[in-house]
Amino acid sequence: MSCSALRYVQHRITEHPDTDVTFEAECLHCNWTAQPSTDSAAVDVECMSHTGRSNHKGFRRARTSFAMVVRAD
Ligand SMILES: [Zn+2]
Repeated sequence: MSCSALRYVQHRITEHPDTDVTFEAECLHCNWTAQPSTDSAAVDVECMSHTGRSNHKGFRRARTSFAMVVRAD
């Protein structure tokens, strides 16, 4: 009979270094998309400008970040 030892290592997930959070938006009514930006307010302003031009009021917004799992020592 073999005897094995299990070893548990704690991990945590964190923002990946040297990466930015990116904000994007696309119109739900046409194929318009905002210029992706690290500034969420800039994307929001683009959406409002698109609404002013087109009367399209629905948008899909995405916030993208990069993560990495590291050992929690
Ligand atoms: Zn649109």
